[in-house]
Amino acid sequence: MKINCLSCGHTIDLDDAYSDYEGQVKCYTCSALLEIKLEDFCIKAVRFVKTTRGAAE
Ligand SMILES: [Zn+2]
Repeated sequence: MKINCLSCGHTIDLDDAYSDYEGQVKCYTCSALLEIKLEDFCIKAVRFVKTTRGAAE
């Protein structure tokens, strides 16, 4: 399944292991950190945690 990054809008590909998942995923494109909640392949919540783009770390 796919979700859209809230920071850059790029599609993030999630494999079937994420069918029931609550936690953080990282956007490959902009390195933003998203907190997601998935139930039965449905997106229940997507929250932007932070972006690491341009950060000192
Ligand atoms: Zn992104």
